[in-house]
Amino acid sequence: MLEQHREESLKYPIQTVPAPEGFPRPKYFAPPKGKPGTEAILQAAEAAGIVDEFDGVPLSQKLKRMRRLKINTVLACCADEDPYISGAAAVLRENPDAVISGLLLAARACGAKENKIVVETKREAKEIRRKNPNAELIVSGTRYPARALLKRKLQAAGKKTAYVGAQACIALAQALDDGKMQSETVITVAGDAVETPSNLRVRIGVPLQTLFDFCGVSDRARAVYIGSSIAGKMVTDLSTPVTADTRCVIATLRVPKRKVYSCVGCGRCSRACPRGIVPWRILREVGLEKPDPLRMLNAQKCIRCASCSLVCPSGIDLAGAVSKAAAIRKSGDFD
Ligand code: SF4
Ligand code: SF4
Repeated sequence: MLEQHREESLKYPIQTVPAPEGFPRPKYFAPPKGKPGTEAILQAAEAAGIVDEFDGVPLSQKLKRMRRLKINTVLACCADEDPYISGAAAVLRENPDAVISGLLLAARACGAKENKIVVETKREAKEIRRKNPNAELIVSGTRYPARALLKRKLQAAGKKTAYVGAQACIALAQALDDGKMQSETVITVAGDAVETPSNLRVRIGVPLQTLFDFCGVSDRARAVYIGSSIAGKMVTDLSTPVTADTRCVIATLRVPKRKVYSCVGCGRCSRACPRGIVPWRILREVGLEKPDPLRMLNAQKCIRCASCSLVCPSGIDLAGAVSKAAAIRKSGDFD
């Protein structure tokens, strides 16, 4: 369980940040007529350039893969799974009908019979049902990494599931209804250096500085992270443009210091991993002069949730070691 800091950013509706002067207008294309079939949905997702905000993968590619894998349950991800980010929850609260429309289209495109909206708490589910009593909801819980744990639970019940981000669902509905290309995204701006933590709707491509100016970020901010407060990356250049998968900008007054000690063999990292990986064993192998890819079992299954690093009492960057192992296995043509 992680300490939560999301109440403030969820207190107010999503605010729209005006695009800088001279910024190109959103583009449109001719949407298909009538009830769209699989191919029309895939083509619209591609024409609209939709990218899933949770993994940065183009939606058309994702849907084709889901169809190949015979996914039978599509899950609209409205669980932010991060102590600071609340963008997916805010998007669902703002427009549950649009998320449902997009989810139904995604399920049709990959031939899935079932679809559900994933929310984090029963309270959230109640709030959404009040707005749309027909919403098919499932509660993931707040234990990190909730999405992966829910997927594992559903898999054990015989369901083949895949997630599509809440914003990607809405973008798909807009592409098929109006021919609108994806041009904006909702980002949570938070952290102890931010005056008013908020969810902001911004145009893709604007610099991070625009968000800072809008939210009142202190000049004393020492560290800025994007993507996720747990597994995201630090940025130093505020002219970095917002992308569809930016999801958050966290500004903090201090740079966290990380003391690293030797592995004490507690096994917490392997117990925390939702993918059945044994990170400490992989860490040991990666540290060798000639690591053996066969001893890095399952490294390629890593979903980069960083649970292993979070629970390690020695402060070891196990997620980084597993990612390195996955790259070694890939380069050696292992699968
Ligand atoms: S980062 Fe990878 S290895 Fe670590 S807990 Fe997550 S899935 Fe497992
Ligand atoms: S959690 Fe850290 S200390 Fe414990 S076994 Fe894993 S690497 Fe070693």
